[in-house]
Amino acid sequence: MVGKRVPIAVAEGDGIGPEIMAATLHILAQAGAALDIHRIEIGEKVYLQGIKEGITAQTWETIRHTEALLKAPITTPQGGGFKSLNVTIRTSLGLYANVRPCISYYPIIKTKHPGMDVVIIRENEEDLYTGIEYHQTPDTYHALKVITRPASEKIIRYAFDYAVTHKRKKVTCFTKDNILKLSDGLFHKVFDEIAQQYPSIENEHWIVDIGAAKLADTPTAFDVLVLPNLYGDILSDVAAQIAGSVGLAGSANIGDQGAMFEAIHGSAPRRAGQNLANPSGLLLAAVLMLAHIGQPEVAKRIHNAWLTTLEDGLHTYDIFTDRLSKKQVGTKEFAEAVVERLGATPQQLKQVEYAAPHQQQKKQAKYQEKIRVPKQLEGVDIFIYREGSLEGLMEQLKKIDPLPFELSMIRNRGTRVWPHGMHETFCVDNWCCRYLLTTPSEGISHRHIAELLHRLADVGLDFTSVETLCSFDSIAGYTRI
Ligand code: NAD
Repeated sequence: MVGKRVPIAVAEGDGIGPEIMAATLHILAQAGAALDIHRIEIGEKVYLQGIKEGITAQTWETIRHTEALLKAPITTPQGGGFKSLNVTIRTSLGLYANVRPCISYYPIIKTKHPGMDVVIIRENEEDLYTGIEYHQTPDTYHALKVITRPASEKIIRYAFDYAVTHKRKKVTCFTKDNILKLSDGLFHKVFDEIAQQYPSIENEHWIVDIGAAKLADTPTAFDVLVLPNLYGDILSDVAAQIAGSVGLAGSANIGDQGAMFEAIHGSAPRRAGQNLANPSGLLLAAVLMLAHIGQPEVAKRIHNAWLTTLEDGLHTYDIFTDRLSKKQVGTKEFAEAVVERLGATPQQLKQVEYAAPHQQQKKQAKYQEKIRVPKQLEGVDIFIYREGSLEGLMEQLKKIDPLPFELSMIRNRGTRVWPHGMHETFCVDNWCCRYLLTTPSEGISHRHIAELLHRLADVGLDFTSVETLCSFDSIAGYTRI
């Protein structure tokens, strides 16, 4: 019996998108998914109408009034300053958790890693993905890596809740906090704090480089992985590929008030319109969606039918091998084969269960109220554009009276070049001059920083950016060396 229809938005996307979406919706309908489908247009056609974000205001409204968005891949036109629609949708709707199950289907799909079953949970809204970049000087570009406590708490709690709900044993965190002590350091710290609240789940932390090597070599050592955005982006593709193929993975983007589900691959324009594309990634994304919107039985029926189709050797070109496949099929034939197997269960591959609706998780994934700590201004880092030598810069800096600050250090690309610099250090045209208060004082304010900038400008120095240096509860909020 069909239950209450859940409103969802559907974007058929570009390239192979319309074909794989048609195949997916056909399977969903035949499996009895109770959906009220609202079609939306996003992507290439909208971009080419001159809308830089690839989506109209009216489409936003449709998405906001549905429970979930099922999205086929879209093509972002090259050049022209178009914004990535994926990032815009994730951040605008607060879809903070990106969930990608990466499972191998040995012995049906070729893989070096039989038994691989890793779920990658990636922070979805910040890190270098904020795309905040500056061309500071002719030679220097900066990108801002943003890590916040609320976002770290939300994603890490989500990962532990996911482990509990899905009966997983371990959550592993990767960061680079040996180098990025403050930003990645925060993510690691929050991981350790939240892990304490889940004593039944094992937890561990790896530095991302060696963790990535271990993941590529022995993925069976991992269970649930929680990662900041960029590491998660890279490693979830690696994980999907070593599991068998990026074409077989779907992903969920979950927020407190919405969700988006998509395949992890792109729009593969060269394969479009030929009934060739594999609809599996989008289909598995739709299965995640059904579980999320409270239709776990339909999710299970479809997923098991899909596994049975793989087992029966009916494979699209991308996963077809003479040794393991029986017949090469097109997109439509593959979908029909899945429909024919609805109700069947796989014999070799592990059957799936979608018992608990994931809704519960949405309510738990909160962050704590902010604990206010005293914030004290201690100084300022001023980045200065100047061609030429350090000595020339020092001459100019000596012309100003910096009080109540004093020049404590100059760095170039993060390396201290004064005092006690080394002549071997290669320097570019952007110098970070650190001014610290001579004596900590209550009366010091941002006005004093403005005055210092004024004096630097008066001697003709070109400052490109300014970072105030503060301590929080007497702990320095900036790298000291
Ligand atoms: P892609 O994933 O689209 O294709 C790479 C290759 O993988 C294809 O040439 C094809 O051989 C194969 N492939 C991918 N999906 C397949 C499928 N379902 N079935 C069979 N073969 C498949 O990556 P790309 O070529 O780098 O990107 C093409 C376009 O997709 C770009 O415009 C890019 O911006 C966009 N893109 C969109 C998304 C998204 O909407 N989520 C994600 C990635 C890329």
